[in-house]
Amino acid sequence: MYLVKIRNGDETTVIHGTKNNTLGDAKVSMTVSAASSFTFIIYPNNTGYFKLREWTTYIDVTQSGKYIFRGRVIAVDPKHNEDGTFYKEITCESAMAYLNDSILSWEKVDKKPADFFVELVNEHNKQVVDAEKQFKIAENSVTNNTNNIYCYVEDGISILEEMKNDLLQNEDLGGELSIDYREDGNYISWTRDKKVKGQQVIKLAKNLKTLSAKPDISKICSVLYPFGSTKEVPVDQKNDEKTNEVSTPRINISSVNNGKNYLEDPELIKAIGRASNTKTWENIKEPRNLLAKAQEYLKTMRNYRVAYELDAVDLQPLGLAVDSFECGNYYHVINPVINVDEWLRLVGVTINLNKPLESTLTVGDQVKRLVDYSMDNLQTERNLKRLAAEQQVLKHQNNMLIDENNQLKQTIIKLWNDILSKQESNDSSGSAWNWPFKPPATIRFDGAKLFGVNPGGEFRPNGFHDGLDFGSVNWPGSEVKAIHDGTVTLKGSMDGLGNYFVTNGDGFNIVYQEAFGSASDIRVNIGDHVKVGDVVGIRTTDHLHVGVTKHDFNAALGSAFSNNGTWLDPKKLIEDGLKNNMGTTQPVNGDWGPVIRNAAAKMKVNISDNDVNRIKALISNESGGNQTVTQQVWDKNMAAGTPAQGLLQYVPSTFNAYAVDGHRNIKSGFDQLLAFFNDSTWSSDIHIPGWSPNGSKRFDKIPA
Ligand SMILES: [Zn+2]
Repeated sequence: MYLVKIRNGDETTVIHGTKNNTLGDAKVSMTVSAASSFTFIIYPNNTGYFKLREWTTYIDVTQSGKYIFRGRVIAVDPKHNEDGTFYKEITCESAMAYLNDSILSWEKVDKKPADFFVELVNEHNKQVVDAEKQFKIAENSVTNNTNNIYCYVEDGISILEEMKNDLLQNEDLGGELSIDYREDGNYISWTRDKKVKGQQVIKLAKNLKTLSAKPDISKICSVLYPFGSTKEVPVDQKNDEKTNEVSTPRINISSVNNGKNYLEDPELIKAIGRASNTKTWENIKEPRNLLAKAQEYLKTMRNYRVAYELDAVDLQPLGLAVDSFECGNYYHVINPVINVDEWLRLVGVTINLNKPLESTLTVGDQVKRLVDYSMDNLQTERNLKRLAAEQQVLKHQNNMLIDENNQLKQTIIKLWNDILSKQESNDSSGSAWNWPFKPPATIRFDGAKLFGVNPGGEFRPNGFHDGLDFGSVNWPGSEVKAIHDGTVTLKGSMDGLGNYFVTNGDGFNIVYQEAFGSASDIRVNIGDHVKVGDVVGIRTTDHLHVGVTKHDFNAALGSAFSNNGTWLDPKKLIEDGLKNNMGTTQPVNGDWGPVIRNAAAKMKVNISDNDVNRIKALISNESGGNQTVTQQVWDKNMAAGTPAQGLLQYVPSTFNAYAVDGHRNIKSGFDQLLAFFNDSTWSSDIHIPGWSPNGSKRFDKIPA
């Protein structure tokens, strides 16, 4: 998924995308022709917490190896919560902003646009020195009729500002700036919109959550009063101070327009009635030129702009679309309910790294012909009313969309969960279970609090309790921790449960209820992925009720008082889970030593410090400590289609020959180490480079 790396000099640190390091509220916002931003929250347990420095720390965000952001940290804002915990809010800007680091002096420019662009980039590269901040040019293709730019560079202006002022905002040049982040540096391009079409269709009932279209007719007029420059003041009045104080009349069109100083568009008058406006062209001195300009302008009034806003689900992370939404590309948007079926350009895309499905998209204004809006024979007032009514209809239809949207959400959460649970089931450490509060020295539950039918619980229908209650006397503390990994699928309030939420993971639906006096005592939201031990809420009542079912939660509520197997005993699940806990299965700050010792102990092998060091050296040589790596060099294994994989670079068939039951995930370093110690001659088989196991298999499963 997403990986975030920071770089300080030669030191690189991964701060997001690993099991141990995760950022909060991480968002990349991209806009066409502007620098992107990347903002996030980092917590003290993150390896990178003390390594973020303003202006000097570089940062990369990749998605499956593809760069989506490269830039630098520009603000580090330390914060703390009321409970005394610390975190930092970080803001980063993308490489395009480096063009603000170089400054120009006054200059008259009279040359080919492409040459000027090259000069600006070269000047920038000269000034910034640091290769990280320099640009190579990928494409430089914008020009005009004369293939010439004539302008003045202001003293002290930054190169980015200069590019904006005299290239992008130049009426007959224009175009867009973009940066391509490549392995060997940043490539800048100055091009026109290439009208690239994205493959993902944005469609109602598929991935379109909301879409609204707002026609903007506020600037429309059907009668235009055009004015040109101010009239020449006669010579004899020039020195009269009073003349300078009063306003001077402007050139108008009456002398060339049958005595009328205005223009009318009959078609527009038919459509919207008589709506007058004025427009002044400072530079036009000839009435005839003014008339031509005004006629041209009034014609443009037959067009109006429509602004679209939309929220869509990116189906790419779910494997349901080939590509993700990309800023600047055009997408086919279909909503038959409101008659939208067109290619719209995304001029802004915000990606949420923590919730990869949620993209906020901004679409550029679309220009449409007013006549297409079939406004014939309507007076302005009626017409405006109608537009207002249409907006009402849009609103209503948007409400209808919300229903479909909720269904869509459920489907997507389910798909997402399937993907997550698949990833989890491949993980040998298993998804652990734990108590929701720090366990007291002696674990004790009164009968009525236990799951099932127990003395003391007779007051309930059938005497049955469908969960486990953690009373605040036997289980003190207020922070409620997740008892198992999962994704929050439901959250709300209901009679009997109070404020509650449900997580789903590994097929278990777990409800946390009755503990939260107010909705804000729940600290998670639908879609959040929680790990065992994460704080999910604050208990503000006398007990927390935890219920576990493998059935659909709402259906399971129908069996709240039936001991029919719908509900499971949370106490047993937690206690069994704790027993099966594999201990340290992941490297600690990159150190595989603790995992090696743990795997050896599980396989009943006594190892010396020297053995640990020999195995660490082997790991370092084989995979550099990367347990998910697949062989990168060509050899006989690769040729046979069975590249070596993982921490110790096992070929799959060899790994399977030594792996123990329940630990056959080749991409798990822990599972590989269990297999490693399952070789009767593991110690003498260590050779660097080129090790292979030669002994016999010791156990079928982890020995008791
Ligand atoms: Zn209960």
